[in-house]
Amino acid sequence: MADINDALEQNWLGSVESGEHLPEEEMPEKAMNPNVAEQLIQHFRLNEAKANQNLATFCSTQMEPQADKLMASAMNTNAIDKSEYPKTAAMEDRCAAMIGHMWGIPEDEKFRKDFIGTSTVGSSEACMLGGLSMLFSWKHRAKANGIDIDDLHNHKPNMIIGSGYQVVWEKFCTYWNVEMRQVKLEHGTNESSLNIEKAMSLVDENTIGIVAVFGITFTGEIDDVQALDAEVTKYNEAHKDMPIKIHVDAAYNGFFAPWVDGFKPWDFRLKNVASINVSGHKYGMVYPGLGWTIWRKNDYEHLPKEMRFSVPYLGGSVDSIAINFSHSGAHIVGQYYNLIRFGKEGFRAVMENVRKVSTHISEVLKATGYFEMITDGSLLPINTWKLRDDVDVKWNLYDMEDALRSYGWQVPAYPLPKDRDDETVERIVVRPGMSMTIADDFAEDLNQAIDDLNKKFN
Ligand SMILES: *Cc1c(COP(=O)(O)O)cnc(C)c1O
Repeated sequence: MADINDALEQNWLGSVESGEHLPEEEMPEKAMNPNVAEQLIQHFRLNEAKANQNLATFCSTQMEPQADKLMASAMNTNAIDKSEYPKTAAMEDRCAAMIGHMWGIPEDEKFRKDFIGTSTVGSSEACMLGGLSMLFSWKHRAKANGIDIDDLHNHKPNMIIGSGYQVVWEKFCTYWNVEMRQVKLEHGTNESSLNIEKAMSLVDENTIGIVAVFGITFTGEIDDVQALDAEVTKYNEAHKDMPIKIHVDAAYNGFFAPWVDGFKPWDFRLKNVASINVSGHKYGMVYPGLGWTIWRKNDYEHLPKEMRFSVPYLGGSVDSIAINFSHSGAHIVGQYYNLIRFGKEGFRAVMENVRKVSTHISEVLKATGYFEMITDGSLLPINTWKLRDDVDVKWNLYDMEDALRSYGWQVPAYPLPKDRDDETVERIVVRPGMSMTIADDFAEDLNQAIDDLNKKFN
C-alpha cells in the first residue's frame, strides 16, 4: 500500500507547494509534481476573464469540443514545414481558397493558379503583408516611371487611411518608413469613417495605396469601400502609369459581412481591391493565433516577387509568404474544421443570431433612458454608446464599467480615436458564443448596475 504522503504528493491538496507562493523571479530549485503544477496554475488563472462574460474582446473564447480535440491533437505540428505536414499545408490552401471565394472571387478561379493567400498569426501580420505588397508593388511602378525611390525627400512612400485605424497600421508605417496620411474623424459630424473626397485629395505619385477599414475597431463603423473604389477607378483612368490599389482591413467583419444582409459590395467584387485581411480568431471562430491575407490575383503586381520565399513541398517547392516562420498548425486545423462543419448554412445561421443579439442589446441599452447609441448593432455586431447629453447623472462610463465588472461583465469604456478623443464611449462586441440567454442575463445585471450607480453617486 502506498504511503499516505505519496498519495498527497500526487495531488495539490496538502502538497508543500500549495502552501507556498508561486515562483516569480527564479525558477524553483526542485521539480514539482505535474498534477500540482497544473492545479496551481489553474488557481492562478481563476479571476481571468470568463469566456461568456467577456464582452470586450473580438477574439474567440469558445470552440466546439470536437474542434478542441482536433486542435489539441495538432498542437505539435509546425505549419511552416509543408513537407513534414503536407495535409496541414493542404488545409491551409483550402481555407484560403474558401475565404477568397467567400469574398467574391468567381468560382471558376482557382487558388494558387488565379489568386493567392496565406495564413498568418493574426490580422497584424496579415495587414503587414497587405501593406508590404502595396509598398513593393509601388516601388516597381515608380522605378518603371523614372521616379527616384531613393530620394526620400521627394519620394517618401505614403499610405492613406482614416484615423480610426487599428495600431498595426502605425506599426507598418513606422517599421517600413512609410508616411501615414490620415484622414481625420471629424468632430461634431457623423463622419466617423473615411471621408473619401479628402482621402482622394491626399493621393499623389508617392501613394502606395489606400487602406479601407471595413469594421472600425473603436466604433463598429465601416468605410464605404464601394464609393472609394469608384473614385479610385476614376483616378486610375487619369493616371494609367501609376494606378493605386485598395487594401481592405476586414479583421473582424470579413467573416461576418458575407453572411448577413445590409452590406454593399466591399470585397473582390470591386475592381481596385487588391488584397484583404481577416482574423481567423475573430468571427472565423478559431482561438487566438490565426489570420489570413488574400490577394486578388497571383501575379507580381499584386504580390511582388520579393515577398515570395520558396519552401520545399512534396518534392517540389511552393511560395511561402508569411513573416513568421514556425508556428503550430493547430489553428489551421481549427479553421478548416469550422469551414467544413458549419458550411455556408451554418455561418449564416450563426451570424444572423449574432445580429439578433446585438440589435437586442442596443434596445436594452436605449430602454434605460441613459444612453445614446453610436452604433446600434443592426449592421455590425458592435454596440457603442455614450451618455446622453440631457441626462443628469453623477457617474460616467468608467464608473459603469466598474459597476458591471462587479457582476463579472467586462465592458470597456475608452476615449474615441484622436480627433474625437474628447468623447468617451463604451462598447460591447457580440460574438458567436453570446446567446440571447446570456444577453438576457446581461440585461438584468445592467439594470441592477445602473441602480447601484444611482444610489452610490447621488
Ligand atoms: C483586431 C484588428 C486588427 C489586429 O488583428 P489581430 O488579429 O489582433 O492581430 C487589425 N485591424 C482591425 C480593424 C482589427 O479589428
